[in-house]
Amino acid sequence: MNNGKNSVSIKVYDKKRNSLVNRQIDELIPELVAAQINIDFQLEAIKCQTIIVRTALIRKARAFGGKGCSKHKEADFCLEGHCGKWISKEELKKKWEKDFDRNWEKLLKAEEETKYLVMTFNNKVIDPRFHSTCGGATDNSENVDDYNTAYLRKVLCNYCIDSPCWKNIKELNTDEIEEKFNVRFKKLSSLNGANIEGMIEEIERDEEGRVKKIKVGDKILKGTDFCECLGLDSTRFGWEPVVLRFETRGKGHGLGLCQYGANSIAEQGGKAQEILKYYYTGIDIKKYEMPDRNRPINNKVIVIDPGHGGEENVGVIGQHKLMEKDISLSIALDLKRELEDLGAKVILTREDDVYIPLSSRARTANKIRPNFFISIHMNSFTNPNISGTEIYHYRGDKEGEVMANFIIKNMEKELRIVNKGVKIADFYLLKTVTTSALHIEVEYLTNPEEERKFLNNDYTKRIARSIANGITEYYKYQI
Ligand SMILES: [Zn+2]
Ligand SMILES: [Zn+2]
Ligand SMILES: [Zn+2]
Repeated sequence: MNNGKNSVSIKVYDKKRNSLVNRQIDELIPELVAAQINIDFQLEAIKCQTIIVRTALIRKARAFGGKGCSKHKEADFCLEGHCGKWISKEELKKKWEKDFDRNWEKLLKAEEETKYLVMTFNNKVIDPRFHSTCGGATDNSENVDDYNTAYLRKVLCNYCIDSPCWKNIKELNTDEIEEKFNVRFKKLSSLNGANIEGMIEEIERDEEGRVKKIKVGDKILKGTDFCECLGLDSTRFGWEPVVLRFETRGKGHGLGLCQYGANSIAEQGGKAQEILKYYYTGIDIKKYEMPDRNRPINNKVIVIDPGHGGEENVGVIGQHKLMEKDISLSIALDLKRELEDLGAKVILTREDDVYIPLSSRARTANKIRPNFFISIHMNSFTNPNISGTEIYHYRGDKEGEVMANFIIKNMEKELRIVNKGVKIADFYLLKTVTTSALHIEVEYLTNPEEERKFLNNDYTKRIARSIANGITEYYKYQI
């Protein structure tokens, strides 16, 4: 938990000064909030935006494992709009004049009352998307981003119905549309109207081109009456559509929080945390923790699953009579120690040489809902010369894939194993465990040279360390 004593500072890129400056997060928050939401909104809505801004800052900050600003490489966050809209305190003074003190106090109050709070999902800081007005329902992330984000799900929202952006109309000339898309619409000869279904249809013309009868809506009129009514000069006429009217509902990409909706829930007495939990599916809101260099994976929860076990399930047996069940258990125990030293909470699915069915291993993991689940195994093949390491993840488990790559690269570098790659599999545990899961085939126990390495007690420790290094690196670069 946050001890409240330290304020975190991050490196920001300031466009006006064209330089990198250190800014305290707490001090930067009100300026970002001021630029991103209508200051006249309810305090609880302003508090929502404050938590959104803080979540975005912590997510980017390198000290918390973020990637920083993708445009200004040395900065954690930029103040030119790319990382989020921003306005300086000085500019706010000019903009708000006599209202400045009152508004600024409101921003500080929102900061104070949400101190250190950020939104997380599975213990990771979320990408806090928001928009002005959803217009009836927010959207699923895959419709906007092309990938599925678990907490950015569609929710119904009629709360924003009074937003000035609920409905908007924009008219564009067809030649503007032609120009924008670099296309040419079919031009109509001016004395030959095209039928526009349900609006205007030509029924009869004489050989001279004069309209005798015309259908307008569901009425059939004489050409002369039509001309008189509209004040047209002649019954020799044509028509073509030159303006298209677009009607839009809502404003913005529609992901995450709908600001006008949030404000109206606040008007009805809703509190900031409830509002955020309504728009971001399944999130938690908690105080962020100060990064600890010595404990880089502080509070991460990892379940390690040593493969096989007991008399009835020994796994592979090598030429020197080493058994897979024993090696996987000693790697798991060593890995537990390594990870605990780095600050993680580690649970093993078995701690002794006992038989445990896969279903109860899965149950253990699903009850704990760890950050990661890792099964440890030794491989086998008929050809004793084959050696190397493989790591499997379930199809679509993006985090698993990224983590597997960090681990296998570290093993390759530190143990000089043959990297046989990160692969997809639908093993029972990968499929059944609901969090990201990996299955590591550490080495081929059928290869006597590889097996001999395990006769040395230190070797499982070295393996455990290289896996732990991969895990640490993953969390360092996690977004
Ligand atoms: Zn940026
Ligand atoms: Zn809405
Ligand atoms: Zn196995």
